[in-house]
Amino acid sequence: MPEAVNPERNPENPILIIGGGPAGLEAAKGIAELGYKAVIVEKANVLGGTPILSSYAALTPDFRSAEDAMGEMIAAVQRPEVDIHLGSQVTAVSGQAGAFDLTVTSAVDGPTQVQAGAAIIATGFQHFDPGRETQQYGYYEHDDVITLVDLERMLKAEQVVRPSNGEPPKRLCFIQCVGSRDRQIGNEYCSKVCCGVAAKESIEVRKLLPDCKVFIFYIDMRMYGYWENEIYWPSQEKYKVNYVKGIATEIVKKGDHLIVRGEDTTMGRPMEVPMDIVVLSVGMEPSEGTKQMAAMFGAEVNKYKFIETVGGALNTVQTSVEGVLACGAATGPADIEDSISSASAAAMKAIAVVRKTAMGVS
Ligand SMILES: Cc1cc2nc3c(=O)[nH]c(=O)nc-3n(C[C@H](O)[C@H](O)[C@H](O)COP(=O)(O)OP(=O)(O)OC[C@H]3O[C@@H](n4cnc5c(N)ncnc54)[C@H](O)[C@@H]3O)c2cc1C
Ligand code: SF4
Repeated sequence: MPEAVNPERNPENPILIIGGGPAGLEAAKGIAELGYKAVIVEKANVLGGTPILSSYAALTPDFRSAEDAMGEMIAAVQRPEVDIHLGSQVTAVSGQAGAFDLTVTSAVDGPTQVQAGAAIIATGFQHFDPGRETQQYGYYEHDDVITLVDLERMLKAEQVVRPSNGEPPKRLCFIQCVGSRDRQIGNEYCSKVCCGVAAKESIEVRKLLPDCKVFIFYIDMRMYGYWENEIYWPSQEKYKVNYVKGIATEIVKKGDHLIVRGEDTTMGRPMEVPMDIVVLSVGMEPSEGTKQMAAMFGAEVNKYKFIETVGGALNTVQTSVEGVLACGAATGPADIEDSISSASAAAMKAIAVVRKTAMGVS
């Protein structure tokens, strides 16, 4: 005989998804495809997450337009099972797995009450601010010191120029691991994507400006899986990007140019090289929204303030709170492919929570 349904823990309760980036969109799509209801609460006025909000141009590894890829994901959640609240945030939560009561507050329409059987936190990351704590690289001091994200915007506009004078650069370099793998600032982790993104952008710069010499200063290059063959080797062999194993310690202005000072660690000697543009390969930190939602749901965070998942390698989406899952870059550095994979896992486990709690199964 089927078990009685607890009316307070209704299997018809939707699954709340906080964040409408790649991870949140994939979770919503998966839930809807399995016939359940999802509610997306997105702080921004558009869906698509950081690739859209930060105007990424082309994505690794296949150079697909970010707008096109995110457009496909956004189109997939335009269906009756998915209720979308843009420009909105979760401002209060009570209840438990199977029956959460939430206040969703919209900047335009004010508060609405929402019931949810489970919640998925997909609030993502923010780019490391290269002026934080140390001003070693002069990001806020020198116009021609930019970040990977600034270069993405230039590449999207197909106009890579020196911000100081509007002229195309003749020499451009990337400095890897800015804000990551740095014990001094407490971010010991690798941000996973920035080596691949720098290699991708180096190819795009060489395609757009064939006369521009491009250098990448690295501690060691860490490519994500197949990105090794897809972008790293082509950037060296086909596009003649110069990889220099070295540590840049300082950037100073000399006349019209920037001088990158540091140490060439292969040759074991000091280096001092003139550049027109220096691109800082900034890594990933948890977004403010990730920190806020972890606090609101009482979910544990790790020492970097990414959401802690408590199942180890065998369950990468369970938070310390029953009925609350997390996925994508809210749980740590991840590329889009990994964010989407963890989002599918979170969707499946959230459905299991809704079904089990409604049936009274533990
Ligand atoms: C410089 C750089 C370039 C990159 N380029 C690539 C690339 O080419 N290819 C690739 O695979 N990966 C790339 N990545 C990684 C990629 O951006 C992430 O994998 C991806 O964005 C993670 O998706 P997400 O949905 O977890 O988070 P996000 O994309 O950060 O989305 C989170 C969403 O949550 C919303 N949000 C935050 N707080 C709240 C809140 N309190 N309430 C409601 N909504 C909230 C945000 O507005 C946002 O829409 C790059 C990363 C960096 C640093
Ligand atoms: S991906 Fe590369 S640049 Fe980014 S932190 Fe890791 S090693 Fe450094």
